[in-house]
Amino acid sequence: MSGEATSNSRLRLRVTAAAEAALRGGHPWLFAESIREQNRDGAEGELAVVYDRKDRFLAIGLFDPNSPIRVRALHVGKPVTLDHEWWRARLRAASERRRGLFDEQTTGYRCIHGEGDGWPGLVLDRYGSVFVLKLYSAAWLPWLEEIVGLIGEEFRAEALVLRLSRNIQEVAARKFGRSEGLVSRPGHNIDASRGIALFLETGLRFEADVVRGQKTGFFLDQRENRRRVESLASGRDVLNAFSFSGGFSLYSARGGARSVTDLDISPHALESARRNFALNQTHSAVSGCPHHAVQADAFDWLEGNTMPRFDLVVLDPPSLAKRETERAGAIRAYARLAEGGIRQLRPGGVLVAASCSAHVTADEFFGAVRQSVVRSGRRFEDMATTHHPPDHPATIPEAHYLKCVYLRAKE
Ligand code: SAH
Repeated sequence: MSGEATSNSRLRLRVTAAAEAALRGGHPWLFAESIREQNRDGAEGELAVVYDRKDRFLAIGLFDPNSPIRVRALHVGKPVTLDHEWWRARLRAASERRRGLFDEQTTGYRCIHGEGDGWPGLVLDRYGSVFVLKLYSAAWLPWLEEIVGLIGEEFRAEALVLRLSRNIQEVAARKFGRSEGLVSRPGHNIDASRGIALFLETGLRFEADVVRGQKTGFFLDQRENRRRVESLASGRDVLNAFSFSGGFSLYSARGGARSVTDLDISPHALESARRNFALNQTHSAVSGCPHHAVQADAFDWLEGNTMPRFDLVVLDPPSLAKRETERAGAIRAYARLAEGGIRQLRPGGVLVAASCSAHVTADEFFGAVRQSVVRSGRRFEDMATTHHPPDHPATIPEAHYLKCVYLRAKE
């Protein structure tokens, strides 16, 4: 296999009892401090075999000498050979998991969701005929050619774009000669200089900036919430705070909103939303819906506007806790945002508040929003809470990052 470093002996590890139990329990991360014995140094992406206390094969995974997550397990249980067939079967399993989820009206979705699909630290998103592979671990870099080949076999990709999380860009360039952008494949000379892919989500047309955009260019994880918002939008004035490329606004417009207002700090995001509205003028509800844009810091803007002018407010900020130490501050910020959102709501209005911070649990987040509800002195009824969508399967606690609460202000 191309991914294996040439070495005289297999990289072998022995680990603590707790780590052994965690691996057997299905958590694929082996932390550096859990390693008790290692027969030699290992390189990025080298396959490491973990043995249990009785010296039996326990797991095999990708080694990463520079990450606190030293091994990402690919398989736990009986010994296996990770040959081309094995990788292909794993890719097929991810495809199978999504079978029947989407029809031809949805051509943008997640094909591989990291740990949840047995590909720890790797994401594959589809945007029409353009596929975006995002690596969050340097351990995948030596396997890239193999994976690109597999994706080519499994999907009819016209173009494949590679994205790298910021923390691995330096090592990718220095050791593997890899950088973000189009991965050329023989016979596929797509001009991706603009880096924009067009796709459908439940019949709405969107662009995704797959080369420079956040994540892989679009927030595919919010599709189910966008659909739900569409079903609530009829006749309402909608505020979409942290609107990015206008996803919630377009669904609201199609759902019959009286008006939609995008609020984002980034002019690029607002321009992208305008283009997405232009792409959907064929939907009469969209072309007939007044679309406003406000470029401002949402925290300040929500606080500064005290007149309730909306009947549906969506709050979908970026992650407010990138690390554990930011957790308490993030919870306060969520409460402050919810307070601002509630102030914008007319009687009977609906508040939709989402959080994508993995370090803030669903209970903590819902608690912060409900605290703001109590402080507002107004009465609200719970409508729903939602979590991760089916193309983002979550099998470990860290993957349960997305949560959203729907509350209706009583008249
Ligand atoms: N709801 C969107 C995704 C939101 S991503 C969707 O469904 O696609 C988060 C967005 O928040 C980004 O567009 C970013 O530009 C914006 N943002 C970040 N900080 C902000 C702030 N303080 N005020 C307003 N917008 C902000």
